[in-house]
Amino acid sequence: MSAIRVLIVEDEDPLRMALNDALAAEGYLVEEAADGDIGCRLALENTPDVILLDLMLPGRDGYSILKEVRQARINVPIIILSARGEEWDRIQGFEFGADDYLVKPFSTKELLLRMRVALRRNGGDDSSDDVSAGKQIIGDVEVDFGGYCLVKDGQQVGLSRKEMDLLKFFLGRPGITLSRAEILDHVWGNDEFPTNRTIDTHVLKLRKKLERCPDNPKILITVHGVGYKLAPQ
Ligand code: CA
Repeated sequence: MSAIRVLIVEDEDPLRMALNDALAAEGYLVEEAADGDIGCRLALENTPDVILLDLMLPGRDGYSILKEVRQARINVPIIILSARGEEWDRIQGFEFGADDYLVKPFSTKELLLRMRVALRRNGGDDSSDDVSAGKQIIGDVEVDFGGYCLVKDGQQVGLSRKEMDLLKFFLGRPGITLSRAEILDHVWGNDEFPTNRTIDTHVLKLRKKLERCPDNPKILITVHGVGYKLAPQ
């Protein structure tokens, strides 16, 4: 397989150059843009495999690039890199079609991990055979997204559409604490009227299916007063 092409749209020179070096060292082919207009053009014309996108940029901002790329139906994973960590920004980013969100400063290791996850979800990674077939190992169960089920101890257990959506949302953001508001927003959207209790109920159901010991969860972890997170796999 040919090298994975990454577009970095970031106006902070030291960060952009450091990312370029780190990614090139990992074998990625890197393109850079230091302003929003160039970044948007490269995103649309050069069809990179993954885009790292700053939000505050000279020229057009990251949100507008994100919107334009999604309107053009370009299905490339986009990871937002931003100094702004407020929940509203993250929700806004996800609403506009971002795949992930990293708050500066972040470690290169974490970025590489998130990129691999985003690429795998998008089917653009060599090691994605299982996922493109709709299967993924979580803990010691195998989830079959195509078959709406998982296999635990050799037993097939059915998954509802919502349980699968919820699980996919967590899988795209391993190790990140997700508030109930974010989960509601992304998994339920505007078409239903769930409450925080709806989420808790679904998480409990998922734990019963996924966890070795649902009362002492190791996969879907409660973050008290906030929400939940998926333990990194
Ligand atoms: Ca910036």
